[in-house]
Amino acid sequence: MNARPKKSFGQHFLHERRYIERIVSAISPKADDRVVEIGPGEGALTLPLLAAAGRLVAVELDTDLIPGLQARAAGVGALEIVHADVLKVDFTALARRLGVARVRLAGNLPYYISSPILFHCVDHAAAIEDMHFMLQKEVVDRMAADPGSKVYGRLSVMLQLACRVEPLFTVPPGAFRPPPKVDSAVVRLIPLAEHERHDADPQRVHAIVKAAFAQRRKTLANGLKNLLDSTAIASAGIDPKARAETLAPGDFVRLAKVPA
Ligand code: SAM
Repeated sequence: MNARPKKSFGQHFLHERRYIERIVSAISPKADDRVVEIGPGEGALTLPLLAAAGRLVAVELDTDLIPGLQARAAGVGALEIVHADVLKVDFTALARRLGVARVRLAGNLPYYISSPILFHCVDHAAAIEDMHFMLQKEVVDRMAADPGSKVYGRLSVMLQLACRVEPLFTVPPGAFRPPPKVDSAVVRLIPLAEHERHDADPQRVHAIVKAAFAQRRKTLANGLKNLLDSTAIASAGIDPKARAETLAPGDFVRLAKVPA
């Protein structure tokens, strides 16, 4: 059970039972659910999720962990291990292969790529029912931040335009082996229904949000100067002298819809 955790893979294995139980009970997997776990590691979450759902797909990059996982899953349920970098996994195609409209994602994520994983999931939001992720607490705070907050930024806007963000609880470093240097938190993300999603060009939205927050201190007119001029910004009903951190997520959608 005790492979040596690899720093390069962001391996911090959860061992405190009460947190494992809280995560599994937040997910409450049912027998028909198609749960996909990102980074199963030694199986702390995999085995209870598998026991509840009866089947599970787990995406793991570290080959060394796979035989142990397979052995531990024997007799618990049908575990399919996909040996891959999660950033290369097409969740939309995976849902189709599993015969469902949407999969449920779960995982104690490798922190070194937590933001890329979140953006990747947002790209596949229509094929995802919900997500329960353990992340650095600081990242969860940024995801859930409101306009005007010091930590409100690109991650807050991009996540909130795609999902409802519900921070659930904090997990201390001592719950992991080895302990990470920071506090962690579990968050639930529920992708917006089709009628709640915006209808602007997603790439344009992303480009505007990225440019607007690239230099937080600048005015929008300055930050967006390669994308929109002041008149165009004002035509969306937004003050060109405002700063990105004061805009609501929907304001960025309005900006993305202004003809360039
Ligand atoms: N779920 C386990 C637990 O809670 O104890 C392990 C969590 S550990 C923080 C992160 C896991 O993600 C490790 O098993 C690591 O090998 C795996 N991992 C790292 N990079 C990955 C990637 N790009 N794609 C898939 N899995 C990855």
